[in-house]
Amino acid sequence: MPELPEVESIKKIVSPIFIGQKLIKYSINDERTNRFNSKIPNNLGVLLDISRKGKVLDFTFEDYSILFHLGMSGRIEINCKITKHTRAEFKFNHDYLLFDDIRKFGYIKITSNDLKDIHLQMIGPDILELSIKNKRNILEKAKKSKVTIKNFLLNQKNMSGLGNIYVNEVLFKAKINPLSITEKLNQNHWNDIFLYSKKVLTSAIKNNGTTLNDMTYFLPNGDYGSNQNFLNVYNKNNCNKCKNNIDKLYIDNRSSYVCKKCQFLVN
Ligand SMILES: [Zn+2]
Repeated sequence: MPELPEVESIKKIVSPIFIGQKLIKYSINDERTNRFNSKIPNNLGVLLDISRKGKVLDFTFEDYSILFHLGMSGRIEINCKITKHTRAEFKFNHDYLLFDDIRKFGYIKITSNDLKDIHLQMIGPDILELSIKNKRNILEKAKKSKVTIKNFLLNQKNMSGLGNIYVNEVLFKAKINPLSITEKLNQNHWNDIFLYSKKVLTSAIKNNGTTLNDMTYFLPNGDYGSNQNFLNVYNKNNCNKCKNNIDKLYIDNRSSYVCKKCQFLVN
């Protein structure tokens, strides 16, 4: 958390407010948030565009870009008060943008536009933008992968955007047990994974993302997401479809939910 739908929802709110504004001054006040920067330039000028790759938000200025990764608990706030969890402040000519991060897994990377691709290419292709070639590459990798399909999909180097909540949901829709070993999956399984990734994420974007019971995720305008009302397996006790018990298990310490009647172990 936040995953692709949450970051996309944030992007939709901040874009019309900040694009076109001039960044007057900014500071990153936390060493950990600043961990990927050696020095930061003073003057970035006018914000030209905001885009997203996977879970990374990309603020593009004329010569430089600011990349935000929200980690587990990062938040973008607009014209709010500074708190002890505020890790960075950006003063634009009309509005303030704050980066707030309780757990500090997030980061802010300032890069020249010339070098930006080097950073973004370390992340796999965005799961909503997969080309035929991207899909072919993913399948090639998958054929040689002995990790569980859940871990394969969570690895942002293979493809980017899916996190723990939506991987659980996609595998439920694709009827695949998350413990299935990746190399055993066939073309049909992958067609389903690609199809349902798109469906699950697109409808989560429409719902402005998922706000879990901890309420840590909300939008820069203060609204909560509503996609938690439409989850099928994540955090559920019973399967929506067959009413069977949902098993909760841990795969690499990440909570996983599976209906053993609806999801099959591929082996
Ligand atoms: Zn079921």
